[in-house]
Amino acid sequence: MDNLNKKRIYIALLLLSVFFFALIWAGVRYVQKLDDPVITNRIFSTFSIILFIAIIIFVIAIGILIVSLINEKSYSKTNKMIKGVIDFLFPLSLFIGKLLGIEKDKIKGSYVNVCNQVVKTKKFDLKPEEILILTPHCLQNAKCPHKITINEDNCKQCGLCPIGDLLKIKKEIGIQLVVATGGTLARKAIIEKKPKAIVAVACERDLTSGIQDVKQLPVLGVLNQRPNGPCYNTQVDLEKVKEAINFFLGGKYEQYVSKTDSTSNSI
Ligand code: SF4
Repeated sequence: MDNLNKKRIYIALLLLSVFFFALIWAGVRYVQKLDDPVITNRIFSTFSIILFIAIIIFVIAIGILIVSLINEKSYSKTNKMIKGVIDFLFPLSLFIGKLLGIEKDKIKGSYVNVCNQVVKTKKFDLKPEEILILTPHCLQNAKCPHKITINEDNCKQCGLCPIGDLLKIKKEIGIQLVVATGGTLARKAIIEKKPKAIVAVACERDLTSGIQDVKQLPVLGVLNQRPNGPCYNTQVDLEKVKEAINFFLGGKYEQYVSKTDSTSNSI
C-alpha cells in the first residue's frame, strides 16, 4: 500500500482527468437529446461514441495500474496501453493539478514514480554494457576543471561530487555512463550508445520530458537532490541508482562486481 501512496498524486489526477472526459461526454449526450437536425445528431453520436470508448480504455488502464501498484504484480502485456494512457492524460492532469494548487514538481515527481512502477512490472536480465546511466552536468562540482561531458573518464574521482561515484560504478561493472549538458546531447548519446535500458538521473522537469521522449526504451528515473538550489552542485542517492541498475541486471549487480574484482585480481 505504501507503494501506492508515493504515486497517489498522479493517480488521483489521472482519475480526475477521466472524470473531466466523462463530464464532456455527459454534456455531449445532453446536447444530443436537445438537438433535432439529423446531421448534427450524427456528428454528436460519433463524438459521443469515440469519447465513450476512450473513457472505457482510460478506466481499464488506470484500474490495471492501481491493481498492479497495490499487488506489486506484473501485468506486462498491458504496459503499452497503461503508458499510453498515462502520457496522453499528462497535460490534462498537470492542468487540473495546477488548478488545485499542487506544485508542478510534485505532480511530475509522482508521474516519474508511476512510470518507474510501470517499467518495474516487467522482468529484465540485461548485461551491464546494455544499460546506460544518463546524468545531468549539474552533478559535477562547479569548481571542477575536468571536462567530463567530453569524456566522463576525465573525472579524477576526487570525492567532491557524485560523478566520481558513478564513474566507480561504471568501472566496477562495465556499465555505460554519459554526462549530458541537455536534452539534445542526451538523445545523441542514446543513439550512439544504443542501450537497451536507461537509468536517468535528473530533476522532475527533465525526467518527465526525457521519459516521454524515449518511448521505445525502458527508463527508470532517479530524482536528483538540490541542496544548493536548481542546477548547481546537485546530488543523487547512489543507492537508488544502484537499485535501478540492479533491477535491469535481473538482481545480478553483486555478481558483476565480484566478476570484475576476480578478473582484475588475476591480471
Ligand atoms: S569527482 Fe570528478 S567530476 Fe567531481 S569534482 Fe572530483 S574530479 Fe571533478
